[in-house]
Amino acid sequence: MRILVTGGAGFIGSHLCERLLDEGNEVICLDNFFTGRKVNVAHLAGNPNFEIIRHDVTEPIFLEVDQIYNFACPASPVHYQYNPVKTVKTNVMGMVNMLGLAKRVRARILQASTSEVYGDPIEHPQTESYWGNVNPIGLRSCYDEGKRVAETLMMDYHRQSGVDTRIVRIFNTYGERMLENDGRVVSNFIVQALKDEELTIYGDGSQTRSFCYVSDLVDGIIRLMNVDGDNVHMPVNLGNPGEFTMKELADEVGKATGKDIRLKFMPLPQDDPKQRKPNIERAKELLGWEPTVPLAEGLKRTAAYFASVV
Ligand code: NAD
Ligand code: UDP
Repeated sequence: MRILVTGGAGFIGSHLCERLLDEGNEVICLDNFFTGRKVNVAHLAGNPNFEIIRHDVTEPIFLEVDQIYNFACPASPVHYQYNPVKTVKTNVMGMVNMLGLAKRVRARILQASTSEVYGDPIEHPQTESYWGNVNPIGLRSCYDEGKRVAETLMMDYHRQSGVDTRIVRIFNTYGERMLENDGRVVSNFIVQALKDEELTIYGDGSQTRSFCYVSDLVDGIIRLMNVDGDNVHMPVNLGNPGEFTMKELADEVGKATGKDIRLKFMPLPQDDPKQRKPNIERAKELLGWEPTVPLAEGLKRTAAYFASVV
């Protein structure tokens, strides 16, 4: 198949391009290089089945493809809040453009949605049927609400025009090729530990997240894209249900890096969700998928990567 990956030079997108090429597909990586880097896909450049296009998804593009993975969008709060209007445009206009392309060439399209559609969740763990608790006017809204509209567009293009859609709600994912200055907690903690700096805990560190290693996530995403049957158009949570407070995560990073950890407490950002953990029963049933890499192992691999680049 010929497959388009938007945001293909980013953290998750680059792992996806690599896996799709390994499986014998032709891959077109489209990126505007806002948070993505050519070096993330440089090792694929010699592959005759691989192409890179510098393009912004807020502008239309015409390509002949069989499948589209729409991953273009900065994912770290630091980056998506840098230009919030652009983040909304990327999520909304980018989604319309990719759905228009999917409709025109009859390609199947998978949207990278997020656990952020649940906002600061009152239901815990989060199931796909939960409608969420999202602030529509806060600093995170450009991302959260942008991704919610993107899901709405996916469902409406499916119902109205019969576009073959898949929606994955991705929970916090980490691994090799995260940006060193990405601002997300795993990369921050690992880079700080490796540099013998204090680990920055926002708030009192009691808030929880559930962290999925990137190879597990990519496996689930490809399964979802290729599954057929009833009910495949409704969203699917993918994530690792192991739940950790940020203080516990700091301890785990200490073990993975072999460093003595010192903590520095800083203000909690606005609307920071207090808890997050996926219910993955739907993914287990529909895809026969569950994560296999424990946090301790994934952190070791990620720390080894950062040790080679920091
Ligand atoms: P990332 O920032 O590393 O990757 C995003 C990529 O999209 C980058 O290469 C960036 O340059 C590109 N991009 C941004 N705006 C663009 C635009 N307008 N046109 C073209 N390209 C553009 O982030 P990531 O962690 O790899 O996330 C990838 C996708 O997965 C995002 O859509 C994100 O919302 C979603 N997601 C990620 C996580 C996570 O924990 N990593 C969780 C939930 C959802
Ligand atoms: N966080 C932290 N220290 C950091 C970066 C983040 O304590 O250096 C916290 C942040 O406040 C949030 C959690 O870690 O509660 C996860 O943050 P991240 O930005 O990685 O993801 P998200 O909030 O989008 O889930």
